[in-house]
Amino acid sequence: MTTSGNSAIEARTLGVYGSITDAIGNTPLVKLNSVTNGLAATVYVKLEYLNPGGSVKDRVALSMIQDAEASGDLRPGGTVVEGTSGNTGVGLAMIAAARGYRTIVVVPDKTSHEKIALLQAHGAEVRVTPGGRPSHHPEFVRNVAAGLAKEISGGWLAGQYDNPANPAAHRATTGPEIWDQTGGRISHFVAGIGTGGTVTGTGEYLKDVSGGAVTVIGADPENSVYGGGDGRAWNMEAVGHFLHPHTETDEWPNSYRPDVVDLVERVTDLDAITVLHRLAREEGLLMGGSSGIAVAAALRIARTLGSDEVVVVIAPDSGRSYLSKYYNDDWLGRLGFPLYGKVSDDRVSDT
Ligand code: PMP
Repeated sequence: MTTSGNSAIEARTLGVYGSITDAIGNTPLVKLNSVTNGLAATVYVKLEYLNPGGSVKDRVALSMIQDAEASGDLRPGGTVVEGTSGNTGVGLAMIAAARGYRTIVVVPDKTSHEKIALLQAHGAEVRVTPGGRPSHHPEFVRNVAAGLAKEISGGWLAGQYDNPANPAAHRATTGPEIWDQTGGRISHFVAGIGTGGTVTGTGEYLKDVSGGAVTVIGADPENSVYGGGDGRAWNMEAVGHFLHPHTETDEWPNSYRPDVVDLVERVTDLDAITVLHRLAREEGLLMGGSSGIAVAAALRIARTLGSDEVVVVIAPDSGRSYLSKYYNDDWLGRLGFPLYGKVSDDRVSDT
């Protein structure tokens, strides 16, 4: 996309953009060198935290907004509404700000102050609703969001779990980028499953373009139901799915297509945290919990592969958002995980 006016500089090729939304995507692949010691296969992580809003969800937020603009569901002066405390809310708020829309994000009351402050800093209005409500309950986060979108004139509900523009974003961008970046040499693709949009859309593209040669692996917290867990709690945020004991059906989100996924690797919190700590200290890669789940799964798969094989793993967001959890000894100790440990607390006096 180019900026307006005669003096506009051609975008993209120069890394010059007409708006922040044009800077979404085209994230780097970075090879793992230390945690892969002794493995024959090559493992790359795709650093989605280098998107401008800090996560893979920028792609989905842009795709959903563009789709709604094209269909006329979202019009100038309109309001973007979503029920999520996570990265999708941030992406939507960032893009809405750049395009002049109002944003309302509905979050459950367990949401941390930092997350609420981050959404507000991106210009979103945050409505807090009681957490833990079953999906048919009027106070369930997504129902509150749907109600608001209907009530407000010009309101539009993004609805990432049901919106086909979610997996479509990955079919159109994440998949082709990975294929090009590996020169078609990718043999295994690994991604965590939240809404399922990433693994579904990227997996569909990679299977199509390779004639079915790419194996698609979903990485899932051990207790999550995608991989056959019983839905008990886990600690890695933003991935996995649990069915509410009283109400939920066994239906997957519409954004998830299980037939695209060849296998689901189940990963414990401990394995995810252990690999996160190594990635930060040995590779210079500070990542969020869902990246820990995905990289741990990828390393397990890579152990079974030969030297011709190329594994690509999605790293959805950065460890910066989780400094008080996965990299914090109080939190780790409280939950019985190995401590991260401080390298040094010493201060050098400047006198
Ligand atoms: N990791 C993080 C940090 C996320 O925000 C999300 C989105 N919920 C995911 C993983 C899962 O991606 P998807 O929704 O595409 O399955």
